[in-house]
Amino acid sequence: MLFDSHMAVLLDAGVSLVNALTDGEARGRPYTAPRGADLCAAVDAALPGGTASGPRAIEPGQAAALARTAQELRRVFEAVSADRIDDAVVALNPLLRSSGARPQLDRAAGEPWQVHFHGADDSLAVGWSAGCATGLAMVIGGDLAGRLGVCQGTRCDRVYVDTSRNAARQFCSTACQNRAKAAAFRTRRAQESG
Ligand SMILES: [Zn+2]
Repeated sequence: MLFDSHMAVLLDAGVSLVNALTDGEARGRPYTAPRGADLCAAVDAALPGGTASGPRAIEPGQAAALARTAQELRRVFEAVSADRIDDAVVALNPLLRSSGARPQLDRAAGEPWQVHFHGADDSLAVGWSAGCATGLAMVIGGDLAGRLGVCQGTRCDRVYVDTSRNAARQFCSTACQNRAKAAAFRTRRAQESG
């Protein structure tokens, strides 16, 4: 297992926040991140811990803060993906500082103690900013930066964390993987018939 369960949650949340809250391209189409009330719903969907009884009431200020965090996290993914690790650190260290990221031992009832990462306060935005930033810091500092990626699909810049055994992931989704396969097939067929 590459990451423990808490790290996996933080990394998944970071990926979800970047992919939901930053403009760019997704799976071949332009992508505009939601604004206003839609932003609150997008934050709720991106973060774990929602309840089956309905969406959480995410305050607009908290959602806006997490949208800014998502921009910072995107800079980290893009820098690492371009082999500019130093630039990733320049983007990440200020987020660790501003969120007051710190470790704390927590446990669920009946479970063993686990190191969790909290922020300077327990607000949604500060807590998740600290957690997601620490997750990326542990990956980069643990010599696993190659596990952070930006989709190689055409017209797609969504990000991912590669947890595959052989560390060969290139795409954000099976949709992009299938698009690339189809394009390669068309190219081959054109070459054969030409
Ligand atoms: Zn993609």
